[in-house]
Amino acid sequence: MSTNVLVTGGCGFIGSNLVRYLLRERPAWKVVNLDRLTYAGNLENLLGLEDDARHVFVHGDVGDRECVERVLQEHAIDCVLHLAAESHVDRSIEGPAVFVTTNVLGTQQLLEACRTRGLRRFVQVSTDEVYGSLGPSGAFTEESPLQPSSPYSASKTGADLLALAYHHTYGLDVVVTRCSNNYGRYQFPEKLIPRMVVNALRNQKLPVYGDGQHVRDWLHVEDHCQGLLQALERGRAGQVYNLGGGAERKNLDLVKGILAALGKPESLIEFVTDRPGHDRRYAIDPAKSRRELGWTPRHSFEAGLADTVRWYVEHPEWWERVLSGEYRRTVTLTRRGH
Ligand code: NAD
Repeated sequence: MSTNVLVTGGCGFIGSNLVRYLLRERPAWKVVNLDRLTYAGNLENLLGLEDDARHVFVHGDVGDRECVERVLQEHAIDCVLHLAAESHVDRSIEGPAVFVTTNVLGTQQLLEACRTRGLRRFVQVSTDEVYGSLGPSGAFTEESPLQPSSPYSASKTGADLLALAYHHTYGLDVVVTRCSNNYGRYQFPEKLIPRMVVNALRNQKLPVYGDGQHVRDWLHVEDHCQGLLQALERGRAGQVYNLGGGAERKNLDLVKGILAALGKPESLIEFVTDRPGHDRRYAIDPAKSRRELGWTPRHSFEAGLADTVRWYVEHPEWWERVLSGEYRRTVTLTRRGH
């Protein structure tokens, strides 16, 4: 469908996996990666692509209209996969303002630039957290009410609604995807799985919120990338698609599984005060994505988690440089300033 695709936030966890995935699955495409390089943006996630002319890194902010318009024009962009965001719930509780700036206002600026240029498709990459929390049974469908609990999920909800409004009002071809918790390589070690692995490897305490009985559904990042590509190529304009991993796990069980995989004792677990407003359970009904996109996750959670844990074990240089802050000095991929 597309040849010139813009990935925003392509130096983050999912974005960098997506850049690699697209270059592998669609070898004829050009992938332009617009990223502001916040603390979560890491050029080392893209090592190995320095000499790949199909990938162009642009250092810039999605909220900077002039920059975005220049990128759209210079690279003749026809499709956008919008991932750039502030993404960490705990940080949104500490300081919500930047979440509104990037996730809501930044998305609106990007949409506006896309609208005025005309695009084949804009994919808004979102989260199941926009639906709020579930009881012990049931699963979110695309029709579930939007009841975000945290400043993060509220800002993502705002962005989703703006994207859909740009479809209904201006006819911009928009598809929204909402996925469950991702796991995989290159995830910033503030998020649950890499944080626990890294702490365990360093024999440090593994902090578990509350009673550890919160349930999350886990989706391998490669399965997510596949879902995004299928939403881009097969989704219907104006539609929302839920992408779930079908792997619900209690946080405590997950942490115990990581310790077992690493041969570390459960005495490293430390229960800490629960996060304010902590959603109890998320689960996704992916029937619509299966039906309309032909999407099903391929990774079993057990195998995917084992592979992910192994990757962090085998790549201490990656996470040590993140923890020390050294990664922010990397300028390996040519920075094209705005
Ligand atoms: P991340 O925090 O790892 O990466 C975000 C990237 O966006 C970083 O590279 C950062 O530098 C960049 N960025 C931030 N503000 C920017 C701005 N103003 N302009 C340009 N770039 C900017 O996030 P992630 O976990 O890879 O998540 C990517 C997307 O997927 C987000 O939109 C998030 O809401 C969504 N999502 C993530 C998960 C998950 O489990 N990680 C689940 C559901 C949805």
